[in-house]
Amino acid sequence: MSSKRRRTTFLLLSLLIVAAMVVNACGGGDTEPEAAEAPQEEAAPAAAEAETTDEDSKEAMMDVDLSPTEYPEPQLIVGSREVQKLPLDQILTYKALDSYSEPDWVSELVAEGALPPVEERLPVEPRVILESGMADGIGVYGGVWRDFSACPTEGYNRGAGQSAGWFGIEAAAFASLLKSGPIYRRSDSLEPLPYLAKSWEWSEDGFELTMNLIEGAKWSDGHPFTTEDVLFTWEDMIVDSNVQSPKGASAWVFDGEMTQLEVIDDYTFKFVYPVAFPVQSLFQMDEGDFHLSPAHILKPLHPKYNSEMDYVDFEAAMPPDQTPVVLGEFVPVEYITDELMILRRNPYYWGVDEAGNQLPYLDEVVFEKGPSGVGRTLSTLAGSADHSNLENPSTFIETLKRAEEDDAHFYVEWGPETLGFSIKLNLSTSLGVKDDRDTAIRQLFRDVRFRKALSFALDRDGISQSILRGPFLRGWAGGLFPGSSYFDRSTVAYHNNNPEAAAALLADLGFEDTDGDGILNWPADRLASGENLVLALVTSEDAEETQTVGDAAVTLLGDLGVQINVRPLNSAARREMNEAGEWELRVDRDSQTFAVPFTRCRELAPIEREFSFHREGSEPRELLDFEQELVDIALAFCVEPDTDVRRDLMAEYNRISTENVHFVGVFVGRYGLAAAKRFKNVPAGMPVFMYNWTWENVMPEQVWVDPAEQIDQLRPGVIPTYESE
Ligand code: CA
Repeated sequence: MSSKRRRTTFLLLSLLIVAAMVVNACGGGDTEPEAAEAPQEEAAPAAAEAETTDEDSKEAMMDVDLSPTEYPEPQLIVGSREVQKLPLDQILTYKALDSYSEPDWVSELVAEGALPPVEERLPVEPRVILESGMADGIGVYGGVWRDFSACPTEGYNRGAGQSAGWFGIEAAAFASLLKSGPIYRRSDSLEPLPYLAKSWEWSEDGFELTMNLIEGAKWSDGHPFTTEDVLFTWEDMIVDSNVQSPKGASAWVFDGEMTQLEVIDDYTFKFVYPVAFPVQSLFQMDEGDFHLSPAHILKPLHPKYNSEMDYVDFEAAMPPDQTPVVLGEFVPVEYITDELMILRRNPYYWGVDEAGNQLPYLDEVVFEKGPSGVGRTLSTLAGSADHSNLENPSTFIETLKRAEEDDAHFYVEWGPETLGFSIKLNLSTSLGVKDDRDTAIRQLFRDVRFRKALSFALDRDGISQSILRGPFLRGWAGGLFPGSSYFDRSTVAYHNNNPEAAAALLADLGFEDTDGDGILNWPADRLASGENLVLALVTSEDAEETQTVGDAAVTLLGDLGVQINVRPLNSAARREMNEAGEWELRVDRDSQTFAVPFTRCRELAPIEREFSFHREGSEPRELLDFEQELVDIALAFCVEPDTDVRRDLMAEYNRISTENVHFVGVFVGRYGLAAAKRFKNVPAGMPVFMYNWTWENVMPEQVWVDPAEQIDQLRPGVIPTYESE
């Protein structure tokens, strides 16, 4: 058992490492989405009904408690703080202040004529970060944030699909209409925060959404930002199918019809939708989706307006060795391929603090470049980087040990529980079904008693501890992640670690070891051959934790007489398997659908034909009653503008999902943040990954460093400059 456990631990750690690498992949921030869903029909008709006439088994069934247990509160990890949730109007506002200030060295540049005065650089009503929302209060100027990027910088034409290097570079340099990252801080709503769009209103019928831009904001070269940029971004980047925008026109198609964008004036425009209240489209206006591109720079280079350009040239029109015109807090001013990128404060940034100090507080950001994401943690441990996201439990202990040493320059804090693994059951009655055995297995999976038996069989805390000792991982019932803003613990039906109940349910389903070989046999009325109950469980070669879960399932279900054969597959083979529906059980690393359900509402239930574990093939999908309920809830949720109603819908969703064991959650963990101790105003309990990653979540413009702790800047006194000016 102990050698088994050690092996399990090793496998899980490897899995988590690989999973972390997948997250860090340069292709974009997203993890593979695998939604879960599994309804089970009628709740087990009490055991007595069954054909099992065996007196003992009947007795046993009546004595066994089959009810779910209460899902426990999370264990708080030492050193972690709760998120201090506030209404938006205590975090930020938009208003004119009596006076504005800037760093002294910037004032000197103004005096020299290199920049207009700060009042002229700022909008009429700047975005004001309020002191009531700051963890450490109004800051002082100066300081550097040193970070790490393991992705190449292709260029800065992000709207045409180029990558600036990820790892926070995009978040630092670019700005969007809205901002999703800090939603975790809001107590009033689960909507994105205003950013360059300061407010928005739905028409009464929900078909029009009017967006109000901040007035008088400027690009980093001083050119005004207006609806001309929005219209260019829309028509010539997003809608133009020749441009590989991060999110294309299809994201704006509802019921087969395209959304329209109409400009009203320099600072006002509206979306006209084909459906009422497609509220989730607000999440397509944040970083990486609606990438605001500078019309005054890119329009003259766009093939539609410039016959000398083609789309390949256009994509490369903002090369990495030229200072880009951007809207973010920091501007890349220097890039040495594969070595480092230096970003300096944007003197035209359109945000201030309540005292009128133009933000950001920091003067400089430096990204060291390296070949692999692990480098970020290593550099943080070594003291040369100021931030890492801990996504890989195998590095947790080493990082924590280092953080506890007196001379460590960083601290570690844990975010919400949104790193989850689960077992899915194939609920399709037809896709991939080739023989009687397949038919019997799918019918078995569609019986809630079997899903509960599988869930009861798992000792989730044992599995969690075998992966990583301590409070980092714990059991998960399935349904929403405990770290989701929509999660309500009271809605969880937790069928955990009750082998007796699992055995009773299997007996109630008619399974009995008729030939005494230790494995349960199928009852003849389910599968005429009466063969042993043997199930195939697919794990992932690319995510070794799934193999550890598989190993645990072999042991725990084996003890109950269910033989599990584990089969690890690579991601390409898994994709093919999923498409063909030729699988029985599978272990997944779950997507962020269960953390931020609203942004991925159509993945919550079998709405799309491709739904993760109840895929539709050539024959119509036969939804179980509870699956249909989940579909109805998800569809209502997608278009529900009221946050409170959305919460109620998700409470119901989670209750139905876990009562029916839609899928079998196994364990959930947290991502950790390692950040420099000298950084002030990092929000308490900030998740490194929720709606977005650290750099979006932290609101970097508000981070500051006490002058006594500031480290030397690489390019003091430098501001971005542009040849064409
Ligand atoms: Ca047997």
